[in-house]
Formats: sequence, structure tokens, C-alpha cells
Amino acid sequence: MAILWKGAPVATAINERTAAEVAELAANGVQPSLAIVRVGERDDDLAYERMAIRRAEAVGIRIVRHVAPPDTSTEEMRKLMACLNADASVHGILLLRPLPPQIDEACICNAIAPQKDVDGVTSSSLASVFTGAGDGFAPCTAAACMALLSHYGVDPAGRRAVVVGRSLVVGRPLAMLLLQANATVTICHTRTRDLEGICRQADIVVAAAGKPRMIGAKHLSAGQVVLDVGIHDCGDGTICGDVMVAEAEPLVSALTPVPGGVGSVTTAVLLQHVAQATRRQAIV
Ligand code: NAP
Repeated sequence: MAILWKGAPVATAINERTAAEVAELAANGVQPSLAIVRVGERDDDLAYERMAIRRAEAVGIRIVRHVAPPDTSTEEMRKLMACLNADASVHGILLLRPLPPQIDEACICNAIAPQKDVDGVTSSSLASVFTGAGDGFAPCTAAACMALLSHYGVDPAGRRAVVVGRSLVVGRPLAMLLLQANATVTICHTRTRDLEGICRQADIVVAAAGKPRMIGAKHLSAGQVVLDVGIHDCGDGTICGDVMVAEAEPLVSALTPVPGGVGSVTTAVLLQHVAQATRRQAIV
């Protein structure tokens, strides 16, 4: 029977370290601050923003909200980013996405100053993840998966890791982080042949396909660690992930629950990045 790798203790441990770092910065006269940029009033964005504000306040990070009207243009967004980049009191920028279709999202992501890119959305941050240079921040969800492995004592070195999904937000950067941690990594996607067989051979399976309950007994084998990144509204008032829990739980050795797994660590990682970005910018 799988041990459930809950996210809460991982998030608590990260938040404790972040709060201590924020207190040290404050003692040196520096107040870490995160700008949250939202376009319009999407329910998902509002919920995420409320949660981020609550958790940031708990560790002593100041949040500055910037809300743009839904018909904002790419040029107006670019100017807002330039203002935030130039504002020395802002240390991190979180852009809530997806942006409305009239805005060039890639252009706006890359308009964020690399040192303030705490969510790892710029090409510069992704290049740093790719090279392992360590001067940019990894996307928070990918970093949260690595934090879970570390907290629960699984060293990826020498293990076979299969990442299902190749998005720039999760799959690809996580594959790079696992490779950096000396795992032997396979990235799977919609054109992969024999996904089930490839997954079965892994020691670590990361389900990040964005397909509800698609990873089941046929993909899994005894002793595996399974990180479920998916988050889906099942339409019946429940939330589920990419993994079929009823089939996975009796088989694998560890599994992250949804909700309460990877997602609950992601915000803690974001706030940790804000504290680290502040220290780098303030050179305390
Ligand atoms: P995405 O951009 O839609 O990417 C999904 C990836 O999965 C694509 O690379 C796709 O392959 C691959 N894929 C889809 N169906 C597949 C299949 N049947 N077999 C093999 N590969 C398949 O999604 P995302 O942004 O990476 O997010 C993935 C999931 O994580 C979503 O459920 C999302 O809600 C969740 N998420 C969670 C967090 C968190 O904090 N926990 C954060 C971000 C996202 P192709 O490239 O070939 O299309």
C-alpha cells in the first residue's frame, strides 16, 4: 500500500525557512515584496491571488497587486512590466496566466526582468534550468516536485525517472532538474509509443499530462514513487489528478495526493524564490 506523500509538511518546512530568511532581511531594513499581476477577474486567478496573499503574509512577504482591465494590450502590459522591473521595492513578479488572447503572452513573460522572475517563465530562467547555471529560478511546480523528493528522502541519482508531459511549465523543466540530480530521465508526450511499458520500468513516475486519472495500473509497478502533478475539477465537486488512485495505491510505494500534494508545495516554493530574489537584489 502506497505511503501518501502529503504536501503540507513539505510546505511547512519550506515556509519556516522562508520566514527566517525574511526576518533576517527585515532586520537589515529590506522588506521582501512580490508583485502579482492579474488581467481581468477570472475566478481561478482570484482564488490563486487570495491564497498567495494569505500565505505570503504568514511568512512576512509584502504583496503588491496590479490589476489590468481585460482589454489591456500587449504594449500596455509591457509598460507595466517595465515599471515593475524598475521599481527597487519589488523583488519578484508573478504573472497570473493564461492572459487574454489579444496579449502576446510569450512577449510579456520575457518582459519580466530575469532577477525578478520568481516563477521561472522567462527564456532566461528556463535556459538557466537547462544549463544548471543556478542563476535563474525554476518554474515553481517543477521545483516543488524536487522538494517533495528531497523532503521524503528519495535521491534521484541513478534512478530511472519518467516524466509524462513536456510543457515548459512542468514537464520539460522538471526533466532537466531530475537530470541535474543525476536521474536517468525519459520525457513522454502524446507521440510516445508504449507509454505504459516505459512508465512501468521507471523508479520515479511524474504524471503531468493534464488528463484526469489517465495513469493507472497498466502504467505502474511495485516500488515506484509517483508524483501526481495534475489538478482537475471532476465536475462532481471533487478534485482529482492524472493518476487513478484506486489502481495506484495498492501497487506503488509512494504517491502524492490530489489535492494536498504537489499543488500545496508550489506556493511555498514561490515564496522561497521571492526571499532568495530579494537577497540577491539587496545583497544583504
Ligand atoms: P499542458 O501544457 O497541457 O501539457 C500537457 C503535456 O502532457 C503535453 O506535453 C502533452 O503532450 C502531454 N500529454 C497529454 N496527454 C497525453 C497522453 N495521453 N499521453 C502522453 N502525454 C500526454 O499541461 P501543463 O501546464 O504541463 O499541466 C499539466 C497538469 O498539471 C495539468 O493538470 C495542470 O492543471 C497541472 N498543473 C499543476 C500545477 C501544480 O501546482 N500542482 C501547476 C501547473 C500545472 P504533447 O506535448 O505531445 O501535446
